[in-house]
Amino acid sequence: MLPNPTMMEDVARWQAGTHVRIRLDAYARNLARLRAYAPTDAGLMAIVKADAYGHGLAMCGLAAEATGAEWLGVARIQEGLRLRAAGVTLPVLVLGPPNLAELRLAVAAGLTLAVGAEHALQAVIALATEGVRANVHLKVDTGMRRYGFTSAEVADAAQKLVAAGVSIDGVFTHFASADDLDPTPTEEALADFAVARNNLRAVGVEPRWAHAANSAGLLTGFTADTTMVRSGIATYGLSPSPEVPVPDAFEPIAEVWSTVERRFVVQPGQGVTYNHTWIAQEPTDAGAVPVGYADGFPRNLANKGWLVVDGVRAPILGRVCMDQTVAQVPAGTTAGAAVQVTGQAPAMSFAEIGTLAGTNNYEVATRMMARMPRVYLVGEQPLGWEHLLLGEATYPTVAELRSALHSINATTVGASATT
Ligand SMILES: *Cc1c(COP(=O)(O)O)cnc(C)c1O
Repeated sequence: MLPNPTMMEDVARWQAGTHVRIRLDAYARNLARLRAYAPTDAGLMAIVKADAYGHGLAMCGLAAEATGAEWLGVARIQEGLRLRAAGVTLPVLVLGPPNLAELRLAVAAGLTLAVGAEHALQAVIALATEGVRANVHLKVDTGMRRYGFTSAEVADAAQKLVAAGVSIDGVFTHFASADDLDPTPTEEALADFAVARNNLRAVGVEPRWAHAANSAGLLTGFTADTTMVRSGIATYGLSPSPEVPVPDAFEPIAEVWSTVERRFVVQPGQGVTYNHTWIAQEPTDAGAVPVGYADGFPRNLANKGWLVVDGVRAPILGRVCMDQTVAQVPAGTTAGAAVQVTGQAPAMSFAEIGTLAGTNNYEVATRMMARMPRVYLVGEQPLGWEHLLLGEATYPTVAELRSALHSINATTVGASATT
């Protein structure tokens, strides 16, 4: 697709201010890399819950479909409805406990529901007696102790569903500690999952899809005897944990950019931003940048983190404010200079931000807020954009994405990346 002139104007306007750039070609390459860790013929479920970890639910859903992912995973029914509204046709699993008041909407939209508690089980059965049959994956609790039937309970739940005429298309569990160094809890969970599946077999239930591994489980090889893997964090090029990093080839797909809007010098003895938690010892070149904690840039980065201006680190001076941050900029910096807030080095990665702010990269990524417009690129070419706050977006079709991704990725990870 050639971007139309209106779209180029929109993109140029957003790119002049604080915005997020999402590299869809890197997303497609990460998905292709992850397949190499999965069993042959296993399905890949791209997890796009939480607005695709802050990267954009609709666009990432469409891009995952264009790359040949078999399934998408979300946490809430409303996220699945958003995918359908954007034109996504892939099977979508709602991983978390569903809001039972939305079950009819979910079934009408062809979403698959995770049933992992008596409450949801009874609601799905009640609906089936009215002739509204949900597609179901049974959720097994193998140690997370959150949502799911135990391996001892799951066969009984399955029999009740079958008796009500509900088809069980899948069975799955979720690892609590696959991102730790110690493999023991994950080995135990996988063993308990095998028990659950045997108990299901004993009552004649052998679902098409059996899945357990998340990104960490996939990267560390906990995929035995399963027919699908689920990955969220690694698809975005981010590591499940410091102990289980993604291999070097993986690429972070998001960058946040802004600009210097006021250039000034802080004189000795003068403080910067709220409560003057930083005071100049000598004349200091400073720049005010319109990005703040309301954009998801953590307030805890006060006097710790850095921005990147003209390719060099610009240490944050004083508190990060709701809408602005001040940094020490290189002497030659002028107003209007581009500022990289996060992304590839030398900018702070989501993991570095997480470490400095006392949290992890998952939380930092999912907090890229609705206020920042997102520009979607394949190579250097913008293929779409989205502004959640304005309720406006332009997305390419799956077919347009497929051809754009194919031409750019064929050269980098081989043609199989986009089949
Ligand atoms: C979020 C989630 C995932 C994805 O986890 P990552 O660590 O991001 O790969 C997989 N399965 C379930 C049930 C989830 O809730």
